Amino acid sequence: MNEWRYCDLVADHVRHLAPYQPGKPMAELERELGLTSIIKLASNENPLGPSPHALEVLATLRGELALYPDGNGFELKTALNAHYPLGLDYFILGNGSNDILDLVARTFLGPGTSAVYAQYGFAVYPIATQTMGAQGIEVPALEFGHDLPAMIRAIRPDTRVLFIANPNNPTGTFLPGEDLRAGLRQIPPEVVVVLDEAYTEYLPDDQRYDPVAWLDEFPNLLICRTFSKAYGLAGLRVGFGMGDPQLIALLNRVRQPFNVSVPGLRAASAALGDRGFLERTRTLNAQGRRFLEEAFDSFGASYIPSFGNFITVAVGQGRKIYDQLLRQGVIVRPLDAYGLPHHLRVSIGTQSENQRFIEALTPLLIARTSVSAMAV
Ligand SMILES: *Cc1c(COP(=O)(O)O)cnc(C)c1O
Repeated sequence: MNEWRYCDLVADHVRHLAPYQPGKPMAELERELGLTSIIKLASNENPLGPSPHALEVLATLRGELALYPDGNGFELKTALNAHYPLGLDYFILGNGSNDILDLVARTFLGPGTSAVYAQYGFAVYPIATQTMGAQGIEVPALEFGHDLPAMIRAIRPDTRVLFIANPNNPTGTFLPGEDLRAGLRQIPPEVVVVLDEAYTEYLPDDQRYDPVAWLDEFPNLLICRTFSKAYGLAGLRVGFGMGDPQLIALLNRVRQPFNVSVPGLRAASAALGDRGFLERTRTLNAQGRRFLEEAFDSFGASYIPSFGNFITVAVGQGRKIYDQLLRQGVIVRPLDAYGLPHHLRVSIGTQSENQRFIEALTPLLIARTSVSAMAV
């Protein structure tokens, strides 16, 4: 028998890590409850599936699956450069944009440094920070969103990274472009600003801003985007970052040589040009959001106005309602791990998925209301 425990062998910051809690996979619920028709509205995936352009190219893959991918991702970077003409050395590819968030932490953080992020910000920021033994500085949210002026005030001499998700997950809040730009002007150049735009494609036209045009002015800015959400390729794991070549070159030193797979590179290159698919995705999402908001309004459930492909809604006992929905084959996301025990996050699905979610939720909320009315 071992006389030592592995726990004693690792640094405190590793021992105290709380693992990321992903949305429950459908197959797992199927195994556990023997349910068949399950819907998953838990991970902000695209209810339309992948872009058909991606599926087309994936169906052609044969012999190249035996080969290592192009570690420099020339084809995908060239496709990206056609959309954002910066030069190929402004791009870095990741195994999901998560990989890039992690690369930033591995490159810039370590003991004796700190990273700033917002309360109710994306869970990966504190995990990536703590994994490196750096200190996380969590800045209280303002109306569930980023309080950027307070985050800037929280920057210390040892701060190397500031994470911003815009729109934010899990709250769906949004910082207007002009506020972001004004904030960037006040952030010292030695702090890398990670602008995580996983949901940027869902922004309404009148809220769009173009941070790519700011890269010359702010060499400390790293814009992160993903193919997981609007492009419908979450299963393939492809994301990308855009930033100053100096910054990108540093991240590339730390990056694993073949971090994006052959299918991921090919599918993402094809999906990028599929404007029609993005438009259908945006339209379906806007309709679904309106439907869910009206339903929440009709039974007086308050929700955080969302700029993404999900809505965070107050339901009372989040974990309990989550469990009750699971038993009806509806997977959403409880947010107690985020410090929001009264809320659930629901991804916007197809119209029939949204309807099924509301039909499952309504009796639970009505039961809750009448119980609390009796208790009064
Ligand atoms: C989903 C998400 C990501 C990216 O996920 P990947 O699949 O790793 O690209 C990044 N940031 C936020 C805020 C997200 O919600």
